[in-house]
Amino acid sequence: MKIFRHIAPLKSYLGEIGSFGYTIGLVPTMGALHNGHLALIEASKKDNSVTIATIYVNPAQFNNATDLQKYPRTLDNDLQMLEKVGCDAVFCPDDAEMYEQPPIVKFDFGHLDKVMEGKFRPGHFSGVALVVSKLFNLVSPNRAYFGQKDWQQVAVIRRLVGELKFNLSICSVPIVREPDGLAMSSRNQRLDPVQRQHSTVLYRGLTWAREALKSGSSPEAVKTAVKAMVEELPDMRLEYLELSDSDSLEPLDAVITSAKPILCIAAYAGEVRLIDNLFLD
Ligand code: AMP
Repeated sequence: MKIFRHIAPLKSYLGEIGSFGYTIGLVPTMGALHNGHLALIEASKKDNSVTIATIYVNPAQFNNATDLQKYPRTLDNDLQMLEKVGCDAVFCPDDAEMYEQPPIVKFDFGHLDKVMEGKFRPGHFSGVALVVSKLFNLVSPNRAYFGQKDWQQVAVIRRLVGELKFNLSICSVPIVREPDGLAMSSRNQRLDPVQRQHSTVLYRGLTWAREALKSGSSPEAVKTAVKAMVEELPDMRLEYLELSDSDSLEPLDAVITSAKPILCIAAYAGEVRLIDNLFLD
């Protein structure tokens, strides 16, 4: 497995493989890898001749300094995991390599970045779009892989690729969960054993809400009930539960008004913020 910390050697490697006509799959990550990330690598390996992962904790997408500072960084372990699953190359730059100057370019995705994650983490998707655009330009992949765990991110990046005419396809990969239902996340490492146990309420809340909505309960009543379910646990706080159309991310006041509704949830376990989602069908 090739490891690149700088752009110049990455570009010469890409030049070499380009001459063979290989297809390239790109898997952007922030490291602290788990099986959710590895599912993206596996999907890319199936579709492409060469898979390139990136590991970079992008400061531009954090609106909370403590979250950035405490974000788990486990590079040696990450590289071992990637090698084991047969990833071909990894780009793991530092801040100076990615941001020669403090960034001034901003993205506005209209409604797509004003709801849910965008509402509670202002500037987050602008930072995501910036770093993802840089990676697309640096690697020129044929396909790029993103997890459905960050469904709003998939919607924003699809729009970015469409509007800026990036010449690549976006592939989304289903959520990988722990056996008790908790969606795998790098932030799970920061949970203490009690918080870890309580965090299963996100998935329990989603599955309960899905059934309640399908049986005709109103989104408002379901939100109130899920909030109570989450907040009866010490140290847990619901930030949002939204029923939306999964393409437009417009909020829905009934399940039947969308062909493909999705339920999205964000909650805090102590100071660790967790997200999850579930399609209704
Ligand atoms: P991150 O390192 O958290 O930025 O995640 C990198 C990529 O992995 C993103 O596209 C995420 O959506 C995806 N990802 C993270 N957790 C999971 C999971 N549990 N299942 C599937 N994909 C995931």
